[in-house]
This record gives sequence, structure tokens and C-alpha cells, in this order.
Amino acid sequence: MANYLSETQRQHHLEESGSLALRRSEIVVDYGLGALREFAQNYEVGCNTGALQALRLHVYRSGVMKDARIVRQDGTVLCSAFPETLEFDREWAARDNTLKILGGSARLFRVEQFFGTALGAMIDVDDQLSLAGVFAVDGSLLDVMPAEIRDNSTVSLQLSNGSDIASTDSSANFALSDRSGHTHIATVPSQRYPLQSYVRVEHGVYEAWNKQAHMPIMILSGLFGALFGILLSRGMYRPRSPLEDLDRAIDQGHIQPWLQPIFDLHTGKIVGAETLARWVKPDGTVIPPARFIELAEETKRIHILTWHLLSAALTALKPLLKADPEFNLSVNISPSHFVSDGFVKQLRETVLAAGVDAWQITLELTERESFEDPDHAAVVVAEVRGYGFKVAIDDVGIGHSGLSQIQRLRADTLKIDKFFIDSVNLDATATSMIAMLVRLAREMNMTVVAEGIEDQQQLKALLACGIARGQGYLVSPPVAVTPFLELVAGQKSAGHNQAAYKAA
Ligand code: C2E
Ligand code: CA
Ligand code: CA
Repeated sequence: MANYLSETQRQHHLEESGSLALRRSEIVVDYGLGALREFAQNYEVGCNTGALQALRLHVYRSGVMKDARIVRQDGTVLCSAFPETLEFDREWAARDNTLKILGGSARLFRVEQFFGTALGAMIDVDDQLSLAGVFAVDGSLLDVMPAEIRDNSTVSLQLSNGSDIASTDSSANFALSDRSGHTHIATVPSQRYPLQSYVRVEHGVYEAWNKQAHMPIMILSGLFGALFGILLSRGMYRPRSPLEDLDRAIDQGHIQPWLQPIFDLHTGKIVGAETLARWVKPDGTVIPPARFIELAEETKRIHILTWHLLSAALTALKPLLKADPEFNLSVNISPSHFVSDGFVKQLRETVLAAGVDAWQITLELTERESFEDPDHAAVVVAEVRGYGFKVAIDDVGIGHSGLSQIQRLRADTLKIDKFFIDSVNLDATATSMIAMLVRLAREMNMTVVAEGIEDQQQLKALLACGIARGQGYLVSPPVAVTPFLELVAGQKSAGHNQAAYKAA
């Protein structure tokens, strides 16, 4: 049984890692294709000097493209935005070797260059010419494995026909390395593009990591298992299920809204807060949301839990919200709850009962799960915005849905996931993705919040990208209501000491 469990967990971990790498790559393709289409619609596609100069500028601005080329429909290259890169080509795909994107006319293919491979995409401009882009998908985008097993694992992006595009294995010959031996493998196909991610972890290493993480639990559960068995057989003991525990915790008010400041990146001033759930046990143990939100969502307890958290946060912050009409309170709303019957009515009633104005409340909708019916979700977004509430799209950059959903939902704010912030000074792809999101937000009249800012270097880089709002341990982790109010009051009484906050 223990063996079965650890194998299932391992497979789950492999697939989760593969799917994260895949989602990041899909976002690059979303942006890259968007940039190609935008160019084809607005500019002349041709090989004359002016047209190529416009193309160069477009490639530079897009951030995700390394190069763009004008090709004949059979795949022959006519010219390149950066002609010198043509010398890097080992081979350029003929049309037959390209893979069509489902439900569209664009195609993806592998670009073989002397220093490695890259992902190519192509859209038809007319019945003669196509515009192709070479996209920046590289190993750092696929760096999703925990540090303990990173060196003994490989994450690759492949076309759906199995040919490699990029890999974390920098030995450049990853395509040749042994994939049949004693390894754990997962392949995760994309729903949107002819792409898949491929994850491989060497046998012993994964086991050792697994053992480290699970062994004490397995030994303990073995011991307790025997004890429970004896008690059960005597009919004396029935352990409470996790759901019963959760219900009790909700009833007894043990799940509380903690708050994390959202601050102005230029000055450090706290301009709002995000409500984050914490289960505080009577002995003071604090349980993070990762341990109970999923169960609450699966069992629909998330509805009652969300209303409880919102009411409690509103009550606690009402004086602050009244004193400072600019102050904004964010709450996380599960997508399934957001589109459920009666959500909007209950939202209005809860906020009205607290005597707080709708525009001081932001609903955060995660992009991690996609809406079953995106059109309906967009209608609900429009409805709540019609009542004055703000809507933020959370975890942007790691979601399933990609750009089109973001554009369709028409929210007020984009929250850029911590993953990109972590890599902002380490990885050019992360920085260019952030720059793209900022541009997209500007075009759509949205504000941007950067999540998980931990140090001054990240802060500086984000300011340079034009981001004005953020959240992260740099200012404060999520804290209980009282310390949060003290933090805000402290800032006020110090006349908001900018010297302590060294953004400049
Ligand atoms: P989220 O909405 O993306 O929240 C941001 C998470 O990043 C929080 O984790 C926060 O503590 C963490 N974080 C913020 N700044 C930093 C930083 O500088 N460094 C690091 N390492 N972490 C930082 P938390 O509180 O554990 O929440 C995890 C997730 O649980 C949330 O992610 C959200 O998706 C979910 N969640 C939390 N409360 C609720 C809730 O009331 N309802 C729903 N539906 N989901 C919730
Ligand atoms: Ca959130
Ligand atoms: Ca988030």
C-alpha cells in the first residue's frame, strides 16, 4: 500500500511538473503568435528595407521572438528580420514537416540551428507568403523541478510528434540520451498546441527524495495504523474525516482571514491588502490554505468559507476602509464559486451589510483553473464590475487558458505570478514576459500587481518594467488582522518613512 501510494504521488508530481513547464511554453507561443498576427494585420510583409526594419522593431518589442522571417508557403526562406541569423540555421523545416495548430491555420515546427534547437511558428499572410517567428523557449522556462532532483532530471518541450525543441539538459545532446532505462517518465500533451512536455527523473534519485519526504510519515502511519486497527476492532474509535475536521473548523471560526499588504512599488506605501485564509488551531498551529482549500472546493464548502472570510475581513478593516477610500481589499474567489447561482447577489448583500463600498473590493480569480464556460464567466465579470466591484486575474502566466481568456474576461487588474518575479533578474525570458504582460495590461486599461517580491533587486527590475503595485515578503508576509492594522498604523504615524524603503 505504501509503495502504491508513493508511486501514485511520484507520477502525480511528474505530471504536475510537466504540466507547469507546458503551460509556460504555451504562454510564449500565445504571445509569439499574437505578435506575428499583429504584424501581418498592420504592416507590409515583404523583404524591402523598410518592411524589414518594421519587422525588426516588432521582433524586438515582442520580447518572445528571437527572429522573424518571410517564407514562401513551401517553407523556403526569402528573408529574415536579422539576416545574420540565417547563418545559424542547420535546417529550416519544409511545410510538410510543420504541425498545424488545431482549429487554426498557424503551424509549429522545429528550427535546427548550429547551437541548438528552437521553436518556430508560421502564419499564412496570403496564398504566396507566410510569416514565421523563431520563439525563445529555452531550458530556463522548463526549470520546474525541486532543487533536490533538478540535476538528475530532464524536462523537455517537444512537438507532439516527439521531436525535441528545448530541454533543461544543457548537454545539447539530450535527444540522444538514454530514455529507455531505469527512469520515471511522464509526457503531458497540450490541449491547445501540437506540443507536449516530457519529464524524466532518474530512478534512484527520485526514490531517495521520496523517501526523505515520506518515510517518517509512512513509519508513523504504520504504527498508528496498528493502533487504530486495535481500537477499531473494539468499536471504540472512529477517526474524524478531513471533511468533518474542516466543517468543525469553519463552524468554530478557526479559519481566519490573514492579510498581506499590497503596496506602491515607488514609495512602499500600503494601498490595499489581499485576504488569505489561515486555519489557526486552538494550540496556535497555523495551517496554510494549500492544505484545505482544495478539499473545500471539491466539497463546495468554499462557498460558506469565502463568505465567512469576506465578512470577517470587512468587519475588521471597516474603519480603515472608511478612513481611506483609496484602500482596497482583495479576496480570492474560486472560479466554480464565482459562476455559481446566487454568487453576485450574496456578494452584494455581504458587502452592503458591512457598509463598505463595492469599488473598495477586488475579487481575485485564479487563472490556474480554466472556466468551463468562459463566455458565461465574462458575463459574470461584467455584472460584478457593473456593480462597482473590481476584478483581478490571479496567477497570470501559469494558467491553462492563456492570453485569450485574459482578454475575454475584461478584468481591472492582472496579478503576475511569483514564478516570473523570482526569475526577473535571472532569466531574460521571464523579464520579457513581464514586459509583455505590462504592455498588454496597458493596452487593455488594466493595472498590474507583481506577486511575491522578496528583495530590492526584484523591486528595481519590476519598476524598470513599469509596474507600480506589488505584494511580497519585502514589505510583509500575510499576517493576522491585528498585526496588519498595526503595520498600517505604524506607516501612518511615521509619516510613511520612505527612507526605510529604498526603492529609489
Ligand atoms: P495566491 O492567491 O496566489 O496568494 C499568494 C500566495 O503567495 C500566498 O500564499 C502568499 O502567502 C504567498 N506570497 C506572497 N508574497 C510572497 C513572497 O514574497 N514570497 C513567498 N515565498 N510567498 C509569497 P498562501 O497564503 O499560502 O496562499 C496560497 C494560495 O491559496 C493562494 O494563492 C490562493 O490561491 C489560495 N487561497 C488562499 N486563501 C484563499 C481563499 O480564501 N479562497 C480561495 N479560493 N483560495 C485561497
Ligand atoms: Ca490571490
Ligand atoms: Ca497569485
